Amino acid sequence: MMRLSDYAPFMRKDEVEEIKEMASSLGGYEIVHINATRYGGGIVEMLSSLVPLLSSLGLKVRWEVIEGDDRFFEITKMIHNSLQGDRELQFTEDMRSHYLEVNRWNLMRLKQGDFTFVHDPQPLPIIEGRRDGAWIWRCHIDPSNANPSVLNFLTRFIEKYDALIFSLEDYAFPLRKAYIVHPAIDPLSEKNKMLGPSEILRVLEKYDVDSDRPIIGQVSRYDPWKDPLGVIHVYKTVKERIKDAQLVMVGSSASDDPESSRWYKLVSREVEELEDAHLLTDLPDLEVNAIQRSYYVALQLSTREGFGLTVTEALWKGVPVIARPSGGIKLQVLDNVTGYLIRDLEDAAAKVIHLIRRPWLSRIMGYNGKEHTRKNFLITRLLRDHLRIIGELSDS
Ligand code: UDP
Repeated sequence: MMRLSDYAPFMRKDEVEEIKEMASSLGGYEIVHINATRYGGGIVEMLSSLVPLLSSLGLKVRWEVIEGDDRFFEITKMIHNSLQGDRELQFTEDMRSHYLEVNRWNLMRLKQGDFTFVHDPQPLPIIEGRRDGAWIWRCHIDPSNANPSVLNFLTRFIEKYDALIFSLEDYAFPLRKAYIVHPAIDPLSEKNKMLGPSEILRVLEKYDVDSDRPIIGQVSRYDPWKDPLGVIHVYKTVKERIKDAQLVMVGSSASDDPESSRWYKLVSREVEELEDAHLLTDLPDLEVNAIQRSYYVALQLSTREGFGLTVTEALWKGVPVIARPSGGIKLQVLDNVTGYLIRDLEDAAAKVIHLIRRPWLSRIMGYNGKEHTRKNFLITRLLRDHLRIIGELSDS
C-alpha cells in the first residue's frame, strides 16, 4: 500500500506537511465512499488510490459498493445517458420505483460515516436513509445538457445533500454548495508507473503488435459516447497515407454498464475488417500502461466526457492527445500545446498524420503534457482537495 512519503518526488515539501496536518486534524472522523462498481471506469481508478492513501494518513475510510440486478443497472445507465444529454429516455413510473427500491435495499446493508461521499447517479437516492453526518454528492459526469425531466426527478435527492462536487465549473448547478475538484491520476499505480522498454516490448509482442511501426489508439470503455467508431474512421484515413500505421484500441466493460457488450460486438466486427488493427479487452493495468506508452499519438474522441482520465494518463506518459473538445478534455488538451482539439474526424486524421510525421513536435507536446499533468492532475492534489472539503464541512 502506498504512503504519502512515496509521493515525495512529485510534491513540494510544504505540500506534504500541509496534507499531514490537515489529515491529523480530521483523524477521528469516519469517511465513507459509495459507488456502483469496483471494476472499470474513472471513479474506480481514483478511489483505488484515494482510499488507501487516506487510510495511510490515519483516517478511517470505507469504500462501499451498492448492489443491484440487471434491470437496475439498465435503468441507471439510461439515467447516466440522459444526464449527458440523451433526450430519448422515457423514464416510466415503473423504472423510477425500481431505481428507488434497489437503493432502499442497499441502504439497509450499508453503514454510514461522519462524511459520506456518494458517487454519480446510481446510489444518489441513498441519502433518503441519512441518519447523521455530512453527505456529499460527487457528480463525475457532465450534466450541463441534462434531460430536464430526469434532472427534475433527481433534484429531490440532490437537494438533500450538504454539498456537491463537480469536475468542472461549467457543470455546477446552483442547488447547493458546490465544490469544483478536477479528477486526478496516481503516478505510482500499475496504470501509470514508469515502465522499462523491455516491459513495453513484452506487452506489444504478447498482442502481436509490431514495435517498429507507428501505433495509435484509444483506451476507453465500450460506450457510444466515447465514439469508438470515430476512432476506426480516423485510422482508416490515416492508413491510406501512412501505410505502416497500426491501431491498438483498448476497451473494457464496467460491471455497472450493460450497454458495453453490445458495443464491444459492434466495434470488434469493424476492427476485424481492418489491416494492422487490434482490439484488446480487459487488460491488466500494467498492460494498459505499456500500450499507452507505445502510442505515437493517443486519440480521445468522446462526444461527452466528464473529465477523461484516459487523457490524463496519456499526457502523463508524454504522449500527445488528439481529442474532441468535450467536457474536461478541454482543461487537459491545450490546443497546439499538449495535443490538438479537433473539429471533426477528418481534422483528427490530419492531425494524427501531422504528428506521426513530426516526431520533434510530438516530443515537445509530450513534454508539455507531462508537465501540465504534474502541476494539475496528480492524486496528491486530489487528496488535498478532499481533505480541504472535509475540513470545511466539519467547521460548518
Ligand atoms: N480503462 C482501463 N481499461 C480499459 C478502458 C478504460 O483500465 O480497457 C480505465 C482508463 O485507463 C481510465 C478509466 O478506465 O483510468 C476511464 O476513466 P475515464 O475518466 O477516461 O472515463 P469513464 O470510464 O469514467 O467514463
